Amino acid sequence: MTRLIIATKNKGKVKEIKELLQGCDYEVLSLAEVGIDADVEEDGQTFEENSLKKAASIQTLTGGWVIADDSGIEIDFLNGAPGIYSARFLGEATDIQRYEGILTLLSGIPDEYRTARFVCAASVCTDEAHYTFLGKVEGRIAWEPSGSNGFGYDPVFYVPEHRQTVAQMDAELKNRISHRGVAFKLLAQKLKELSRG
Ligand code: IMP
Repeated sequence: MTRLIIATKNKGKVKEIKELLQGCDYEVLSLAEVGIDADVEEDGQTFEENSLKKAASIQTLTGGWVIADDSGIEIDFLNGAPGIYSARFLGEATDIQRYEGILTLLSGIPDEYRTARFVCAASVCTDEAHYTFLGKVEGRIAWEPSGSNGFGYDPVFYVPEHRQTVAQMDAELKNRISHRGVAFKLLAQKLKELSRG
């Protein structure tokens, strides 16, 4: 079975990516599982650039096939911020401090101006080629946090179509509709094509 290494240290992402690639004929391993403790500087200008850089940097260390994602939340009222800086928004802070910071910035702003989206670029690098796919999910910033599933900004990202925040969704629903779910579904199709040769 071909090994696929996930180039992230984020445990929330590792869990979701493993679930999303279930059913693909690959042995999916995290960086921790292969004993690598590397940090890749995210200095690209787009989700796609950062995702590809993470996969390519780890691929040069490990060889074989490496997958990565770069993701974040774009808030229209903040002109798309924090976007590619979502993980570093407010500097050294916890997930709770970050989403509380967003709620404060949007304090009193009516629903129609609270629109936002999660974006995910998913990449795979093999010895010979690389591919990147983009996924998005549209929603809006809630007025208060709800739910305890998922990670990051999930408690304050409300998806009107499902009348709940992402943190209120079970893993099956989040994986089906999320930015990461969409991007990794496209990536999984490519992996299947590649394994057929
Ligand atoms: P990066 O891709 O490692 O730069 O980190 C992206 C950051 O965006 C994460 O640390 C989270 O704060 C946020 N993020 C990305 N995807 C999700 C998600 O599915 N739910 C909640 N927050 C997310």
